[in-house]
Amino acid sequence: MKGIQVQGAGQAAVVELPQPQVREGYALIRVVAASICGTDVSTFRGTNVNVSSYPIVIGHETAGIVEEVGENNQYGIKKGDHVVLDPYVYCGHCYPCSQGRTNCCETLVCLGVHGEGSMCEYFAHPVHMLRKVPMDMPWERIPLAEPLVISMHGLHTCQLKAGEHIVIIGAGAIGLLAGLGALAYGAIPILSDVVDERLELAKSFGIPYTVNPAKEDAVAKVYEITHGRGAECVMEASGSDAGVRSTLDYAAYTGRIALTGWPKHEITLPTNLITKKELQVRGSRNGAGEFEEAIDLIYTGRVPVEKIISKVVPYEELPHMLQELSEHPGDYLKVVGLFSQEG
Ligand SMILES: [Zn+2]
Ligand SMILES: [Zn+2]
Repeated sequence: MKGIQVQGAGQAAVVELPQPQVREGYALIRVVAASICGTDVSTFRGTNVNVSSYPIVIGHETAGIVEEVGENNQYGIKKGDHVVLDPYVYCGHCYPCSQGRTNCCETLVCLGVHGEGSMCEYFAHPVHMLRKVPMDMPWERIPLAEPLVISMHGLHTCQLKAGEHIVIIGAGAIGLLAGLGALAYGAIPILSDVVDERLELAKSFGIPYTVNPAKEDAVAKVYEITHGRGAECVMEASGSDAGVRSTLDYAAYTGRIALTGWPKHEITLPTNLITKKELQVRGSRNGAGEFEEAIDLIYTGRVPVEKIISKVVPYEELPHMLQELSEHPGDYLKVVGLFSQEG
């Protein structure tokens, strides 16, 4: 079978791989659609600190058809089902796992990062980590359930409610999906980014407010939009120093902050502001138990993920697209590769 392998910094290719063996508790999936994540691009660049060795098959945003599965499994998964992979494989025994917080398992294995990825024609995955999707859901939208899970987890971490303002920092795929998710919740998203084109895009999606901290006094503007209160919620999805620092300024007194972006290094913060405003600052990573909601939001059109799909290509073009995304990140949001036609 074919798969997309990164062999070293700047090197990706379609390679021949052995057909996966199906173990007890696993199902074999014939992959139909897989999208490229920022994580895959950083693996391609050689800057993903979580990838310890090359070559590696990348990919964790994957949808396909169940080809082989044990009869009468307790999860009701059958041959022929359309599924998306929940890619955060957890141990089930450690402290966070015992709390149901499997997204931050101490020995988490994310596909294509800590282990071989699923950007290939066939993939064996634990049956309990397959999420069924409706049979008439368009294939290219299904892999986007994974980034949407990350965005929704950020909103859940903030405990965002209808009518509240949320400043979302970083208008990449995660930030834009969070904005669309906030609209679906009846909240008022304010997208912040230093690239005007991204803010224009956000506006065209129906995001009511945008701020560009590189060009205007974004804090003053947020206070104006929120009638002097500040934002009840702030979600950081850029991982930049300035983005992380600004969360404390955008937040209202008693505001809730979710840190989703992964900074590349330590960032200094004035913690006196956290105390003074009694801010709740929480990390937000991956997602747990949130795929069903993400699938439903996509299927019902309440979160129109197709808006952030820049390109759909045959899988043979994925190595080239990695290069493109690496060199021109501003030109694309999501790129989806198709492995086989619907069958
Ligand atoms: Zn992803
Ligand atoms: Zn665990």
